Amino acid sequence: MEETENMTLYNRKILTDIIKTAVVCFFITLVFGVKAQAMTIVLDPGHGGIGTSGAGAIYPPYMEKALNMAIASQVKSELEGAGITTYLTRSGDVSLTLDQRAAYAKSVNADLLISIHFNSSGGHNLNGSEIWTSLYGTYYTTGYGVGSNIMQQLTGLGFMSKGVKTKLGNSGDYYGIIRYGVGLGIPTIIVEHCFMDNAIDRAILDSKGVSALAHADATGIINYVNSVGGAGSTIEKSNPIALEAGATSNGNTAGVAAPPTIKANTGAAASTASSAPAASSGFPKDASGNIIFTDKNGTTGTFTQDEWNRLLGNWAYTGNPEYYIKQVPIGDLNTMIGK
Ligand SMILES: [Zn+2]
Repeated sequence: MEETENMTLYNRKILTDIIKTAVVCFFITLVFGVKAQAMTIVLDPGHGGIGTSGAGAIYPPYMEKALNMAIASQVKSELEGAGITTYLTRSGDVSLTLDQRAAYAKSVNADLLISIHFNSSGGHNLNGSEIWTSLYGTYYTTGYGVGSNIMQQLTGLGFMSKGVKTKLGNSGDYYGIIRYGVGLGIPTIIVEHCFMDNAIDRAILDSKGVSALAHADATGIINYVNSVGGAGSTIEKSNPIALEAGATSNGNTAGVAAPPTIKANTGAAASTASSAPAASSGFPKDASGNIIFTDKNGTTGTFTQDEWNRLLGNWAYTGNPEYYIKQVPIGDLNTMIGK
C-alpha cells in the first residue's frame, strides 16, 4: 500500500517534469523560430528580352532564350511533382542582369541556383554538354554533386560529356551568375546543355526533342536531392564567397554568351508539341490566301498556310511559336522551310 502510494507520487513527479519540459520547449520554439525547412531550388532560364541581345544564339527553329525557358518551365513542374519548392528567375521574355537573377534566388532563400543555357561556337565544330560550378569549398562540392547527376542524364541522351568544371577569372569565379550566386551564399551552376549550332549535337536535340532534355535535368536534380536527404531537407549554407581582392563586381558577365550569331538551319523540327499547330490568325492575307508577314526589320514576305504551319510546328516547343517567329529575320524563316 505504502509502496504503491510512493510510486504514484514518483510517477506524478515524472509527469510534471515532462509537462514542464514540453512547455519550455514550446516557448523556445516560439522565441527562436526553430522550424524545419525544405529544399528550395531556383532555375534561371538564361537570356531573355526583346531584341537580338536578349535572344542568345539563334539557329532556327532554336532560339536560346526560348529553349532555356521551355526547359526551365518543364523542369519546374517536374521538380514540384517531386515535392521540391521551385522558382524561376523570369517567367516571361524579359531582360534581367546576372546579379538580379542571383538576388532573386537569395530573396527566396534558395538552396541551389541552376542557370540553364545552350552553347554555340564560332566554328560550329564543338559539341557536348558542359556544366560549370564554383571554384570554392562546399560551393564546388555541392555544384559538382548536382552537376554530375545532371551530366549523367544528358550523356544518357547521347551527348558527350565535356565535364563538370570550374573556371578562374580575375574576380574569382569566371562566370558572372556563379560569382554573384556564391557571393550571396548560394551554390550555383550553369548547365550548357549542348552546342545548338553543331551537327552532332543538333542530331541528338532534333531526334530526342527539347522535352527529353528537360526531363534529363529534372531527373538529375531529383536524384541529387534524394542523395542529400530529399525534398524535406536543406543544403547547409556556407559563408558567401567575397570577390577576389582588387576585383570589381562587373569584371565580366560571362554566362551571357558571346555576341549572338544568326544561322538558318533546315534540319528536322524538334517539336514536342502536344497539339497540331493551329492556323494563324491576325495576319493579313493576299488574294491567294497566303499569309503576309512582316519581320522585325520591316521586311515583308508571304507564306502559304502549309509553310506557316511548318514554321509553327518547328517552334512549338516554345509554347508560343508566333511570338518567337516574329523575332526572326524573314530570310532565316525562308531558309528554315527550304524556300
Ligand atoms: Zn546562354
